[in-house]
Amino acid sequence: MNLENQVPTCDFIDTPFSCLGNVLPFMHTFYNAHHHLHQGQQEMFRGRLVPCHEVPARLDFVRQALQARPLGPVQAPEIDEAALDKAIHRVHTRRYTEFLTHAWDEWVALDPSNAERDALPSVWPLPNRYGFRVDQTPRSIAAKLGLFAFDSGTPLTAGSWRAARAGAACALAAAQSVLTGQRSAFALTRPPGHHAGPDFMGGYCFLNNAAIAAQALRDGGCERVAVLDIDYHHGNGTQTIFYERPDVFTLSLHGDPATEYPFLLGHADERGVGAGEGYNWNLPLPRGTGFADWQAVFQQALTAVADYRPQAVVVPMGLDTFEGDPISGFRLRSEDYGCIGHSLAELGLPTVFTFEGGYAVAEVGVNAVNLLQGFQEKAAAQTVALLTPQTPAQKDPLHGKTLQHILAELEAHYGWEELGRRIPVRCFTHDPSVGSSLKFLRKTPWAREKVEQLYIYTEQKKSRKQQKS
Ligand SMILES: [Zn+2]
Repeated sequence: MNLENQVPTCDFIDTPFSCLGNVLPFMHTFYNAHHHLHQGQQEMFRGRLVPCHEVPARLDFVRQALQARPLGPVQAPEIDEAALDKAIHRVHTRRYTEFLTHAWDEWVALDPSNAERDALPSVWPLPNRYGFRVDQTPRSIAAKLGLFAFDSGTPLTAGSWRAARAGAACALAAAQSVLTGQRSAFALTRPPGHHAGPDFMGGYCFLNNAAIAAQALRDGGCERVAVLDIDYHHGNGTQTIFYERPDVFTLSLHGDPATEYPFLLGHADERGVGAGEGYNWNLPLPRGTGFADWQAVFQQALTAVADYRPQAVVVPMGLDTFEGDPISGFRLRSEDYGCIGHSLAELGLPTVFTFEGGYAVAEVGVNAVNLLQGFQEKAAAQTVALLTPQTPAQKDPLHGKTLQHILAELEAHYGWEELGRRIPVRCFTHDPSVGSSLKFLRKTPWAREKVEQLYIYTEQKKSRKQQKS
């Protein structure tokens, strides 16, 4: 058995990981290389057309920060079009995606000079009883834009649909990565997603990446998934998508909609309906909230997530809670994001991050990676703790067996390659109480990988000691 070959390799990152780094759980980042195809020129803001806040440079800064502080491989998603279509339509209607598919061509067909301008809506159907019709799809693109968008701040451009689809592929790949045993994964993409609903766009969002990831986790075997939205703005799209469902618990910590965008949803009394009653939780906070107050409410949300006992968590990660954000009103500082990541890892659950807001462009990369690194450091400590006896009562989690014994048993039972393929995701838990540690290790590809890595680490340490003596 050549254990050297079992160590995960990072094809996209030059920086070699330290020996101890091999014990740490990697975070896989799925990067949308087509994001720049969506580049709006202007958005409507309080009666004026102003330059877009949601710009491609946001992602470039996150990539740079990830190069300076690598957390794991950065890779393109490998998702075929049919699988992507299926995943998108688990949370979005075909009527809506039909609109998105043809919107740009129809916009230009309306007036060839439109090719120079972003498409923005200017009429909307108000939800009055016996008022405007929303059941019929109008033929005019001008009317369709209003039917499928809830604001005029979300310019639709020639490349928006392609960029949004490629972003959804990142979210799906991140969910699949976690389903196959990774502790965490990051969908690094724009346009963002959490404002997009089953049949509407808005808030710079077209496809709801977090909802697509959450649904993929459900479809992949997780019985319960929690979506914990920490963007400054209420995750209205995600709330709407899962509002009637108990199997996806949606929580959102955000600026009070009484004064903050998206204004018309996100109040504390929106708790879900029918079977979903009690499974939506909004935690609005006043503009000007600093980290201490924010964190106290965040802890309540984390407790609620833990009580729900999900098998996986999706975190729509907005960095527009930052004190320097030009369109938001909380006062979090760069160093606070590491604490947030740390707290999220304390849930001890497989976690998918999706990149949402954050418009202090120069700082968004540092803040994003601070959060992810905070998560990584805590997750690494958990890995070591899991494989190290902590107290006499816990005894040796390996039940006195040497790592070599366990490795030999696992190999004899499954063979290394087979093991990863055979493991059902429902066995994926970081709670050793599911059974004996050995049973746990057998059932969990993630733990298997860590055992391998720890084995290599201890062997290397041993040989270094021998060399010294
Ligand atoms: Zn936001």
